[in-house]
Amino acid sequence: MEPISLQRIKTLPADEKFVWSRYNVAVEKTNDHSYLLYNTRSGKLVTSRKPFEVIKSYYVEGQPLRHEDSTLQKLGFLVADYTDELATTRMDLDEMKRARYQHLMILPTEKCNFRCIYCYEEYIKGRMSKDLQAGVLRWIDTHKNEWDAFTISWFGGEPLLAYEVIKNISEGVMSICRAEGIKYSASMTTNGYLLSLGKAQELFRLGVSTYQITLDGPQAEHDDKRHLASGEGTYLRILDNLVAISETDLPVTVNVRVNFDQNNAPYLTDLVDEIAVKLEGDQRFRFRPFAVGKWGGEHDDDLPVLDQEDAVCQTLTSTEYAVRHEIATATHEQLTPNRVCYAAMPNSLIIGSDGVIYKCSVAFDSPVNHVGRLFPDGRFELNHEKFALWVEKDGSTDPGCQACRVHPICHGATCPLVRIEADQRPCPPVKGNLEGYVSLMALEVLR
Ligand code: SF4
Ligand code: SF4
Repeated sequence: MEPISLQRIKTLPADEKFVWSRYNVAVEKTNDHSYLLYNTRSGKLVTSRKPFEVIKSYYVEGQPLRHEDSTLQKLGFLVADYTDELATTRMDLDEMKRARYQHLMILPTEKCNFRCIYCYEEYIKGRMSKDLQAGVLRWIDTHKNEWDAFTISWFGGEPLLAYEVIKNISEGVMSICRAEGIKYSASMTTNGYLLSLGKAQELFRLGVSTYQITLDGPQAEHDDKRHLASGEGTYLRILDNLVAISETDLPVTVNVRVNFDQNNAPYLTDLVDEIAVKLEGDQRFRFRPFAVGKWGGEHDDDLPVLDQEDAVCQTLTSTEYAVRHEIATATHEQLTPNRVCYAAMPNSLIIGSDGVIYKCSVAFDSPVNHVGRLFPDGRFELNHEKFALWVEKDGSTDPGCQACRVHPICHGATCPLVRIEADQRPCPPVKGNLEGYVSLMALEVLR
């Protein structure tokens, strides 16, 4: 049976009435007295010289659409009065779950050359065997007819310690995708230490065009937190690698993640200053601060983590500083609709270097995260009861989430692990200051 294609109706009956969307976020910009309106379901932003309050009060009971408000209606700020916005939001998530798309996160090795103080990994399992690499390719070959798009995220350990595994699987996958007309893309989370320019160029030929690389502050702060297993600092070599990429026209995006806690938070602006000089405002490099959490590592009890309010404040102020220094940032991504964790998606799996299948890339030790196993012959065994915990526990039946303006962004599923382990709502940082994030996004996109 062919799936029905859902075409959205574009023409409006003349007697239709409209109301203000429950997902509108109105913000007054303090610096120039202009006004912003963002809709968390459509992901659209508009600005105005006049407050939106007047328009909102006109549509409060449901009114025919005025000609001058047709743009607001087209952008999702006004919706037909019979619309159940919760139901349509739920449908957005269902459509994503049904998409002809597959995401695999692959751990080519679980060993690492670094010993970061907040790391939760155990560095025990080595590189993926040749047999298992063949198993990955067999599984992909068996399921290729189910997909229009396929993505691999390389993760570890440090994936570049097992470059041959990456090369072998990438070549095999790219050949299958080419033959079948499947759109292929890849990204990599690496500590950046082994990412020489030559390696980045080879990886680009293997489909890797997006990186996440962490710098935790200027040299002293970074080296304190992210050193080699021998204790040696790593900052200068990573920065040299980034500078070498920036001196070419390699079309990659590098998310420069900055994990901050009470100790290095005061130095984030120093790091921005350094990046501004060394990378000369290269927009391929995006500053992304991220509050350190107690992620299950052996030093968790000693980590000076910030509480959520301070973490949000630090994120906003350091990102604004970066925007004002012409550094690329990505606040808009945090406000993008349907931003659920890959662990919540049925079409996303993590394959460990020994074939264990996980959903979450943090809780590797948690038995609930061991959802199956891949075998060298390409067979997959999945524990459906565990799998369901990750992909079916979201905000759709949670009254708090149903009443929340952030729902179309996170669907209550930013972090299924929080729901599974603590039975709490996994609110993303934007929930802590939605208006602040919208203002920052406007600064970012309108600069
Ligand atoms: S479930 Fe939570 S901890 Fe696990 S990968 Fe997703 S966001 Fe991270
Ligand atoms: S998890 Fe938090 S932010 Fe997300 S919908 Fe639920 S209450 Fe809102």
